[in-house]
Amino acid sequence: MTYETQPKASHFVNGAYLEDTRGAAMEVIYPATGEVIARLHEATADVIEQAITGAQTAQVDWAKLSGMERGRVLRRAADLMRERNHDLSVLETRDTGKPLQETLVADASSGADALEYFGGLAASLTGEHIPLPGGDWAYTMREPLGVCVGLGAWNYPTQIACWKAAPALACGNAMVFKPSETTPLSALKVAEILIEAGAPAGLFNVVQGAGAVGGPLVGDPRVAKVSLTGSVPTGRKVYAAAAAGMKHVTMELGGKSPLIVFDDASIEDAVSGAILGNFYSSGQVCSNGTRVFVQRDIKDAFLERLAERTAQAVIGDPLDEATNFGPMVSEAQLKIVLNYIEAGKAEGARLICGGSRIDRPGAWIEPTVFADVTDDMTIAREEIFGPVLSVLDFGDEDEVIARANATEYGLSAGVYTRDLQRGHRVIGQLQAGSCFLNSYNDAPVEVPFGGVKASGVGRENSKAAIEHYSQLKSVYVRMGETEAPF
Ligand code: NDP
Repeated sequence: MTYETQPKASHFVNGAYLEDTRGAAMEVIYPATGEVIARLHEATADVIEQAITGAQTAQVDWAKLSGMERGRVLRRAADLMRERNHDLSVLETRDTGKPLQETLVADASSGADALEYFGGLAASLTGEHIPLPGGDWAYTMREPLGVCVGLGAWNYPTQIACWKAAPALACGNAMVFKPSETTPLSALKVAEILIEAGAPAGLFNVVQGAGAVGGPLVGDPRVAKVSLTGSVPTGRKVYAAAAAGMKHVTMELGGKSPLIVFDDASIEDAVSGAILGNFYSSGQVCSNGTRVFVQRDIKDAFLERLAERTAQAVIGDPLDEATNFGPMVSEAQLKIVLNYIEAGKAEGARLICGGSRIDRPGAWIEPTVFADVTDDMTIAREEIFGPVLSVLDFGDEDEVIARANATEYGLSAGVYTRDLQRGHRVIGQLQAGSCFLNSYNDAPVEVPFGGVKASGVGRENSKAAIEHYSQLKSVYVRMGETEAPF
């Protein structure tokens, strides 16, 4: 397969590709081989200025359209994304290294779902009528915020761009989006598709670069809202910078989520949940259940099946649809993960399988399982963002709830049990925004997604996202005379 990966230019601003070679050079690397697949330039101050002024101009007229008209554009964009799913998936695979088997079903298609969902919702974004004493009444209007900035991580580039753009645009905002510098390619395709679907020039802009480009976007007084998908340390910085300008924020940050397996669970299903929650996208998923708490009396049976099934991972060319386990996104991320694996070994965790770099070009690492992990070990406390699964033993329900919650994070949590009352009772006590009962890592657009504690602020997807991309204006209407004390 030969597909073009070099975009026409680095940025997409005001409805067209835009280049400024004065910006620092960026190389895009296919992590499965280490080959350079595109060369771009970071956005200069000029590019950022054009993107923000373009967005500001486009937003004014876009907000005047009815929700129905805005929604039509988004739904057309969803259709185009679905029609082009195969080519977009190949591009996503080249940009991230994720197997085509995954990108075909989880990236552009998830982005299309968001565009379709919020496109459908746009026409029903109305205010309410509030009757008041004496015949007076009030009404509310749901208004856009203005220009929103989106900052993306590298694990789901298309999905993140669409999860932010779709609700923002549905509510009448414009967006300037900065993808991760590691995976800059597919957001440009989202921008192209939106234009083709009828979005006005300037409504959705893509500017490239690292944090040094994100900083000025977040700090710009013309920007009303910042939505970040990234790590907790970056979240703290970006949230603080946005707070200085009293901006709205959505923070989708990292996690160290618990996946609890009780002894009455289907071991086969629980092992599936653990595999999905640790090895999908080579473990580079924020909501992963990386602390797998297994009740003591089924621990050996669980570990045996987990090791057997992990050995069946098909590791190979990500563009081969039979492959279901790909490389890390970059050499830098691989080194971070290898250091965590060394920490696990040094601190006394028992290596069940994996644990090494795979000897082939590119950033490959084996799916890795540790057992006998204790709460104080580095691999049980810090987000690794790689294919490293830790199994921790537990005795009873109260103990596991307390230990599951003993973390600064609170993104996700999962419970495997056949006892429905226990399942709901335990989920009710877990400190996490997105929970799973006898499942793991599903993220349909209809369901709110986001974290509590250090894992984030706000929600993406579902009707809940509307609250984070719009504001209410209340209008009081006096039907009689205006009374004053003098
Ligand atoms: P980072 O936090 O490093 O970066 C996120 C984005 O913010 C990138 O585009 C980055 O640019 C940009 N950025 C970095 N510093 C600043 C700054 N000071 N001002 C403005 N922008 C800045 O995350 P990663 O890309 O490494 O992604 C991995 C992390 O993302 C993990 O912690 C993971 O858990 C989290 N994540 C959370 C998800 C969620 O929905 N909760 C989903 C997916 C991932 P650049 O990288 O180009 O320098």
